[in-house]
This record gives sequence, structure tokens and C-alpha cells, in this order.
Amino acid sequence: MCCNGVLFGDVALRPGDSARRLAAAGLTMFRKGRQRCFSQPCACFDGRACRIYDERPQRCASFECRLLQRVQSGRTSAAAALRAIAQTRRCVERIQELVRELGHTDEQVPLNLRYAAILAQPIELAGPENILQRRRELAEVVELLTQMLELQFLA
Ligand code: SF4
Repeated sequence: MCCNGVLFGDVALRPGDSARRLAAAGLTMFRKGRQRCFSQPCACFDGRACRIYDERPQRCASFECRLLQRVQSGRTSAAAALRAIAQTRRCVERIQELVRELGHTDEQVPLNLRYAAILAQPIELAGPENILQRRRELAEVVELLTQMLELQFLA
């Protein structure tokens, strides 16, 4: 979830990272103010792992989510962490389905921007009931995901 646009919309390079080398490896680079960043979902994420793991940016190499920190310190068991990950991924998958059904199909845009765009649209109370239901469900699942990410993953 730290590579596929669920946790982050972009990642900033750090001193020592080579923007040219990372761009050549496939990362989509852009500038945000004075910082060089690459966009998420990451072009080097193959769905399960990093394609440039040995050469990944420093922020990727140093990032440890809160759940990993808890497992490493013995405050959470590996089994409990895996259950939390599975539960969060189910939530993400449901949001992805709802976002697609509600017409936002560009998978290259971070998920948080896609659902925020949908939820920012005015509600058409006279519109089709199935659309209203999906939108209500999307708002509920996004709220749940936000709680999960804050509680379990964001360090
Ligand atoms: S470079 Fe690798 S570790 Fe970093 S976000 Fe992309 S896929 Fe993940």
C-alpha cells in the first residue's frame, strides 16, 4: 500500500537520489515546488513487489509503516499484522470497485484523489438510486479506510 497510491500520492526524492537514473528506471518524475518527486501509483510497482528494489529511492528504503514498527518492537504479532493488512486491503478493493462503478476509471491516479473527486461532486438527490447508494457506501468505506490507515500504517 506504500507503493500503489493508497498511502501516498507522491514521494519526494532525497539528497543522494539520482533523478536521472530513477527516471531511466521507469519512475514518473515531476517537480513540487523545489522538490523532485515521483508519482504514485509507482510505475516500478508490479502489483506485489518493487522492480528496482536494489536501486529504490532512499525514502522507500527507509520508510517503515507503524504496523511494521509495532511488529519489530513486539507490540503486535505478525499474525495480527497480517490480519490488519488483509482487512485494509479488502477495504481498498471495495473502494476501487466503487470508484470504477462511479466512473473514475484512470488507475494511474492515486486512489485518494479519485475518491476525493467523486465525493466532492454535488449530490444529485433526484439521480438514480443505485448511484446514490454507491456514493453513500463509498463515503462510509473511505471513512473506515482513513481510520485504518491512520491507526495502523501512517508512521
Ligand atoms: S520505487 Fe519501489 S519501493 Fe519505491 S514506491 Fe516504487 S515500487 Fe515502491
